[in-house]
Amino acid sequence: MRKFFCAIMMAVAVVAVAEVNFDKYFDGRALRVDYAFAGDSVKQEIFVSEYVSLPKWCGRRVNMDTLLLEGTGDVVMRSLEDGKKIYCQSFSTHFQDWTGTPQALTLKCAYEHVVLMPMPRNKVEIEIRLFDFKQRPVTVFRHEFDPKDIMVRNLASVKGPETKALVASGSPEECIDLAIVAEGYTKEELPMFYADAQRMVDELFKYEPFKSNKHRFNIVAVGAESAESGVSEPAKGIWKDTACKTFFDFLYMKRLIGVVNLRRVNDLLAAVPYEHIVVLANSSEYGGCGVYNSYDITPAHHAGTLAVFVHEFGHSFGGLGDEYFYDEMYTQYYYPDVEPWHENLTTLCDFQRKWADMLPKGAPVPTPPNPNQDKNDYTTVGVFEGGGNQSKGVYRPAFNCRMRTNTVPDYCPVCRRALQHMIDYHLQPM
Ligand SMILES: [Zn+2]
Repeated sequence: MRKFFCAIMMAVAVVAVAEVNFDKYFDGRALRVDYAFAGDSVKQEIFVSEYVSLPKWCGRRVNMDTLLLEGTGDVVMRSLEDGKKIYCQSFSTHFQDWTGTPQALTLKCAYEHVVLMPMPRNKVEIEIRLFDFKQRPVTVFRHEFDPKDIMVRNLASVKGPETKALVASGSPEECIDLAIVAEGYTKEELPMFYADAQRMVDELFKYEPFKSNKHRFNIVAVGAESAESGVSEPAKGIWKDTACKTFFDFLYMKRLIGVVNLRRVNDLLAAVPYEHIVVLANSSEYGGCGVYNSYDITPAHHAGTLAVFVHEFGHSFGGLGDEYFYDEMYTQYYYPDVEPWHENLTTLCDFQRKWADMLPKGAPVPTPPNPNQDKNDYTTVGVFEGGGNQSKGVYRPAFNCRMRTNTVPDYCPVCRRALQHMIDYHLQPM
């Protein structure tokens, strides 16, 4: 018994030592590093475009040196004084999706990527890495950062667009801070934008675990004005002058609406306490996109808008993978010898660290095909083949889920648990 007690005490001590002392290393502002990821299907490079300082760090103040998910890339900040790892964050990017397209065989491209970090008090080393589809770090870039550098662009005096608080639960330190940005709404249409944003928020908090964690979120609607109404649709020859410069047909996929001008969108948020971004597009076209720890974009006015918004938020906030799949695809994202980084997908390479504990006792792995399967069952946990865009070799936790279709009412139990993990990761020591 005493041994057991000692073991507990030791575990507590290890956790206590591992936590980074926020006030010792950081001054309370945010550092925004704007990167350019450039290259082609063979070789990729990382460049710093600009350093920006923001008045308030709204990200997590716990688990500073711990990653919850691997992502497709990550960033680590180390104190140059004592070598200690003081912050890390993982993310996904459009750039890596693009390197898997046929265009990347013959063209070199550069994509913007923005990372928010707490502003260090003293000089630090920042290491940023991009992984290939087998989770191997193929591009690694290290740079020193001096917070006293006069070329750090200070946005503290920027006023920014008007805002409206939709959920105000507490200080940024106590809450997860989400900004919903208007895209393609003219000044006259901003009342419609606020009503649209409110509908999204009302929908999100119908879902668990968001419903029971609403008191841990702040959500602000940012009324960025666009000169023209609507968004660009290149396949129809339509290009609009809009606040966030988004467009459909991204990566030549009709329903993909993308944000490539990430620096511009983040500039719009300079005066807003934020750590996660949703762009709400004034369009009735079907589409959407969610990039982990980067942004979520949803057109506001098509029949599936509310479901798509919640699906994309599962990507951008929760790091969830798609549970839908196609018979044919150009890029293979998942390989049998690599476990996917998403909590809701497995290749069975290391299934025990996924949802094995949530399976009914004695359930076969994988779940055998059932001709009488209820196509709307999103509550029974199994190991169903097909997910992550691949019909073979990738498995999902439920037959259906918000991460698979727009027709079921909720996330599957594994996705709900993953989202709860993410909420806790932001706000309490793990
Ligand atoms: Zn799911």
